[in-house]
Amino acid sequence: MNIHEYQSKEILKGYGVTIQEGIVADTPDEALVAAKELNESTGTEWYVVKAQIHAGGRGKGKINETGSNGVVLAKSLDEVPQKAKDILGGTLVTHQTGPEGKLVNKVLIAQDVYYPGESDPKEYYMSILLDRAKGCNVIMASTEGGMDIETVAEETPEKIIKEWIDPSVGLQGFQARKVAFALGLEGQAFKEMVKFIFALYKAYVGTDSSMFEINPVLKTSDNKILAVDAKVDLDDNALFRHKDLHELRDLSEEDPAEVEAGQSGLNYVKLDGNVGCMVNGAGLAMATMDIIKLSGGEPANFLDVGGSANAQTVEAGFRIIMKDPNVKAILINIFGGIVRCDRVANGVVEAYKNIGEINIPIIVRLQGTNAEEGAKIIDESGLKVYSAVLLKDAAAKVKELI
Ligand code: GDP
Ligand code: MN
Repeated sequence: MNIHEYQSKEILKGYGVTIQEGIVADTPDEALVAAKELNESTGTEWYVVKAQIHAGGRGKGKINETGSNGVVLAKSLDEVPQKAKDILGGTLVTHQTGPEGKLVNKVLIAQDVYYPGESDPKEYYMSILLDRAKGCNVIMASTEGGMDIETVAEETPEKIIKEWIDPSVGLQGFQARKVAFALGLEGQAFKEMVKFIFALYKAYVGTDSSMFEINPVLKTSDNKILAVDAKVDLDDNALFRHKDLHELRDLSEEDPAEVEAGQSGLNYVKLDGNVGCMVNGAGLAMATMDIIKLSGGEPANFLDVGGSANAQTVEAGFRIIMKDPNVKAILINIFGGIVRCDRVANGVVEAYKNIGEINIPIIVRLQGTNAEEGAKIIDESGLKVYSAVLLKDAAAKVKELI
C-alpha cells in the first residue's frame, strides 16, 4: 500500500529520522497558515509547496491547468497562497503518472532546507527494500541523489552502493558506517548519516514496509542529514497488525475498479488490452492471459476470483470487467476443484441475466468437477455465451470473436 509523502515523513519522524519539516494543507488559506506555523517553529522564511500524489517526479512534472511544477519554492509568506492555488485542484502529469496525470487534493508546505550557506547542500539517494533472492533486506545508496535512480542504475551502476542486512541479526554499526563512508561523508555529517540510517532501518522494520525510498536525502550546508522526500510502501500482508497505518490509505489515489474488486474479495489488475478474463487462481489467470495473447488478443485485465467462486463473485467480476470500454470479449476460465462447474455455469447465467445489457461475446471454459453439466447449462441458456471444454478451443473462439 502506497501512502503520501507527508504521511511517510510523519512515520519516519516517529522513529527518529530527521526530516524536512512540513504541514499539509487542503486550501491556499490553509497553506498560508501552515507556512506561518513553520516560520514560527523552524525560523524558515522560504517555503516549498509540494503536490501530494502517489507518484514521483513531481518537481519536473507540470500541472495541466496552470503550468506550475508539482514542487515549487516560495520565497516569502505572501507567495505561498498563490503557489498553492496553482497546484491544488490541478492535474499533475509526471513521468510516473502517465499522460492522464493525477488530481492534486493536498499540498505539503515544507520548510526550505536548501538555504544558501557557505557550502552547497548535497543530495543523496537512499532506499531500503527486500532482496528476495538473498533473503535479506538491502540498503541502497548513491551520491547521485535527486536524479532518477533508474538512469543511474543503467548508466553508472557502480555509483549505487548496496549493503545487505540479515534480518535475524539486524543492521550492524559497521554496515551503517560503511554506507556513510561510501557516500564520501566525514566529520559531523558522517555521524549524522549513521544515525539517519539506523533510524530509517528501524522504521522500515517497525512498519513492516516492503520499500522505503528517500530521494533526496539532503546534507545541508550546516551538515544536517534530512529526508527531503519520502516514499513508503507498506506491505499489504502485514497491515492487519498496523491498524493505524491502514487508516492512511487514500482510495482516491487508486484505480476505482481495483478498489471495488478488493471490496468484493477479487484480485483485479487493469491492463490495456481488449479481452477481459475471469479466472480462479493466479497461475491459471496468467496462463489464460498467455492464451489470449497467443490467440491474437491482448488481455484487458488480470482477474483472480479465488478458489471458491460463486454467483456473487462471478457477477462482481463481470461488472468490473464491463466497466472497461476496451473490452471486446470476455473469457471465463474456471477449474472446478473446490467449486463445481455446474454451479459456476449457473452463476454465469444468473449474473448475465442480472446485469442485462451485455453485448459482447462471452466464452466460458469450465474444466474439472461436473464440467460437462456446466457446459450443458451454458449451451442451453440461450444467451450469447459460448462454452469450450479445452483451452485451445477457448482460444480459437476468442480469435474468431474478436
Ligand atoms: P519528486 O520530484 O516527486 O521526487 O519530489 P521531491 O520531494 O524529491 O522534490 C523535488 C525537488 O525539489 C528536489 O530534488 C529538490 O531539488 C527540490 N526541493 C525540495 N525541497 C527543497 C527545498 O527545501 N528547497 C529548495 N530550494 N528545493 C527543494
Ligand atoms: Mn524525490
